[in-house]
Amino acid sequence: MKANKMDHPNQGISCEVSNCRYYMTGNFCSADRIHVTPRHASTSQETDCSTFAPAAQ
Ligand code: SF4
Repeated sequence: MKANKMDHPNQGISCEVSNCRYYMTGNFCSADRIHVTPRHASTSQETDCSTFAPAAQ
């Protein structure tokens, strides 16, 4: 699922992944949508945001 980078935070998401291209200061995410995997997780630690993309260096 392709996400669009917005110019403001997605108010429904708190994220600490500061090296993601969608990350915004204050632990916000600027993606208009995110996709989380895997389908059969047992704990929250087994889940990952697959919308993550490395920030430009
Ligand atoms: S796309 Fe995922 S990893 Fe990146 S800032 Fe948003 S929630 Fe965090």
